[in-house]
Amino acid sequence: MKEPHTVRRLGDLARAIVYRQALIKHECWPRARLEELQQRRLASLLDWVTEKSPFYREFRSTHRLGPPYSLQDFPILDKKTYMKCFDQIVTDPRLRLSQLQEHMAHVCGDEYYLGKYRVLTTAGSSGLKTVVVFNRKEWSIQEATSMRIASMMGVVPFSLRRPTIVTIGSHSPLHDSYRLPLSMDTGLYRYHVLPATALLEELVQRLNYLQPHVLRGFPSLLGLLVTEVLQGHLHINPSIIAGGGEPLTGELRKQLQAAWPKSAVFDIYGTQEGLRAMECNPGQGMHIFEDLGIVEVVDENNQPVPDGTLGHKILFTSLFGFTQPVIRYEITDMMVLAAEPCPCGQPFRRILAINGRNDDVLYLRGRGGKQVAIHPVHFWNVLESYADIRQYQVVHEPDGICLRLMFDEGNGHVAGSVREHLTRKLHTLGVERPSIRVELVTALEDRSRHMGKWKNIISNVNHSTQ
Ligand SMILES: [Zn+2]
Repeated sequence: MKEPHTVRRLGDLARAIVYRQALIKHECWPRARLEELQQRRLASLLDWVTEKSPFYREFRSTHRLGPPYSLQDFPILDKKTYMKCFDQIVTDPRLRLSQLQEHMAHVCGDEYYLGKYRVLTTAGSSGLKTVVVFNRKEWSIQEATSMRIASMMGVVPFSLRRPTIVTIGSHSPLHDSYRLPLSMDTGLYRYHVLPATALLEELVQRLNYLQPHVLRGFPSLLGLLVTEVLQGHLHINPSIIAGGGEPLTGELRKQLQAAWPKSAVFDIYGTQEGLRAMECNPGQGMHIFEDLGIVEVVDENNQPVPDGTLGHKILFTSLFGFTQPVIRYEITDMMVLAAEPCPCGQPFRRILAINGRNDDVLYLRGRGGKQVAIHPVHFWNVLESYADIRQYQVVHEPDGICLRLMFDEGNGHVAGSVREHLTRKLHTLGVERPSIRVELVTALEDRSRHMGKWKNIISNVNHSTQ
């Protein structure tokens, strides 16, 4: 007889608890032992994909590769190519992109696909959507990583006083920040996910009620909450604050620390494909969990840059993704890795600086003359829901908002409905007569010209003098 879904989910979590123990042991290993583990896992991954994935099988025969394989012999895949070749890359022939998209349209909780897969979707700063599939074991590793991050912040499962963890983020089961807590919600922690798209007043109200021990969210949103503390609306006392999804600047860290002097402020980095990095101590840089993945920091020509130097992008290889191999997958975040080992003794390399999504909060005139702070998440949500938009930029000028849209060829006709959708959204958020003009463009500036300070949402208006 088939196990009921809840039993299987509990099984996934039980496995995650075992994995977590193993992962935590790696944190005390010497670097050489970690590198051995990486090489062993990489060898099994490359053996597996060259047998089971039609894409890599063909690549192996065209390039006459044979074991032992070297990672550098494998192709670099950007998001677009990856999604184009998706059906050939996956190692289970039953996984078809079109059918997964169909499944995603109906997911409302922690459902499995074909009885064993969890399917997520992403839309990064490029606005290009990707799909990520994990089998149950792979998902347990995701859960274990999540518990590992909690442990590094000092939150231990099975403690008598179950901590209340509140994440302000996506409210979709297709995003890991929501799906992970959902799949692990068995009473170990008290998890709450509040939608980042909610009105600020509602978030403040909910937070005052929940009184989180741990508060997680986009740094720019945490910045808005600091203002709410200063204005006397928000009364919470989290012992741990964690930012993720955007760079946490030194300035914001100071503001958070000033608003909540007794809390520890952590920075977390992660991608839906399974790359995770986390600070051991606040301000020390984020350790990449290299027991689960390999990160190559490279320049424009895909050549490795030395530690301590700013790269143009990274190539990520997941050492645990066997269903949907992620090998030398291009992530357009620019980062600098520390050249020195960390004083804490962990063998994992650290991200010292990262220039990822770096969008501005826009301050628009609200009804009744009051200014309304509009977090970039509202723009991401609307604009990234259109599959036809290749790239976009929102620029707030003194005379209104300029929306620059770049479409896949021939799809520009939806621009009008995008504009209407955004106007409606801003109106709901309390903006008085939002003025939006649309520019259709065929190219947006190269992000490298900004030294990685690429912004999708830009404010050219000084909000204090408005
Ligand atoms: Zn450290």
